[in-house]
Amino acid sequence: MNRYKIALLAGDGIGPEIMQQAEKVLKAVETRSDVKFDLTPALFGAAAWFETGHSLPQETIDICDQSDAILKGTIGLNHEDTQKIPVEERPERAGLLPLRKHLDTYANFRPVYLPAGLKHFSPLKPEIIGDGIDIMIIRELVGGLYFGEKKLGVDEHGQRYAVETLEYTEQQIERILRVALETAQKRKGVLHNIHKSNVLKSSVLWNEILGEIAGEYPDVRIEHMLVDAAATYLCLNPGQFDVMVMENMMGDILSDQGGGILGSLGLMPSACIGPNKAYYEPSHGSAPDIAGQNVANPYSMLGSVAMMLEYSFGMKDQSKAIFDAMEALFVEGFTTPDLVQPEVENRMISTDEFGDKVAKAISKS
Ligand code: NAD
Repeated sequence: MNRYKIALLAGDGIGPEIMQQAEKVLKAVETRSDVKFDLTPALFGAAAWFETGHSLPQETIDICDQSDAILKGTIGLNHEDTQKIPVEERPERAGLLPLRKHLDTYANFRPVYLPAGLKHFSPLKPEIIGDGIDIMIIRELVGGLYFGEKKLGVDEHGQRYAVETLEYTEQQIERILRVALETAQKRKGVLHNIHKSNVLKSSVLWNEILGEIAGEYPDVRIEHMLVDAAATYLCLNPGQFDVMVMENMMGDILSDQGGGILGSLGLMPSACIGPNKAYYEPSHGSAPDIAGQNVANPYSMLGSVAMMLEYSFGMKDQSKAIFDAMEALFVEGFTTPDLVQPEVENRMISTDEFGDKVAKAISKS
């Protein structure tokens, strides 16, 4: 029997609600395969700050270090509650970014996936979606604007100013591009390289490095596209994309747009992979507007569990079983409120019911 240690960082907002569904589904996976998951909860985000004074307490780092993989829920508060925490200690700045840096999870895989049978979820016209949407966004996760030097100051005219630095080293760029090229090789052999080289020097270097290593991947066709154009084409012609690679902030924004074209951020799982450790999280935030109401869509969390089973533990069949179970629920018309459509018959279910149904389907299959 394989045993895996998993750290559970439920976090804030809807994080604990959707993490509960993840636990149910992991237990269901245990019933159908020779595996045991040792689950260790750990404080993270604003919940951790209010309890310990740190968004990423040392104990949580230790639990992550001792785990085979990490499942993260969501962190962050609404605008008003955020003001209760000093700027430098807020969950993203003092929790999430340091966690990413500590684990060096530089490769963020964000699938934007909607099968043809569920195209009614998307706000795009059916003829634009065609056979469905199936894109893998690969976002660099530990460099760029979010990690560069930052400064707030007052100049000689008494004007306040802010400086953020967008930094990338050659090694940081090369390793994410290689991940993207290898992913394109395993999929359709097409890679859209998203950049802003008409303005940013970092994009010029990025493209130069891509040009230097592209010859090692003759089976991959590279398409260059400016990030602003990519935002438009995601709405007008998403079918042209298969694998997209981009810098950290561009990936943050375009992947949320990915959730938009699917119909809900609740459909966006993700995997954050480093050289030694990986963590898995929904791409979205803590959704404070719906927290505690048992209405959040747990697909993104359960999809992250499925990605963990495949990427960290090599359990491809179990991973597929989770995605299949969720897709089957949607096909039967079951849905959380974020995906309710006026023109089709909906069978609205809660977060809990969604988790129960997926767990039951997994246990039975
Ligand atoms: P958000 O992603 O939390 O929510 C945006 C909208 O999408 C909201 O209307 C929300 O209800 C909806 N939504 C998100 N996930 C959903 C789900 N699973 N089911 C149904 N609806 C869902 O973005 P926001 O409101 O801008 O940010 C809220 C907090 O989350 C902020 O504190 C922000 O900093 C934080 N945040 C954290 C992460 C992270 O943990 N990686 C990412 C983004 C934002």
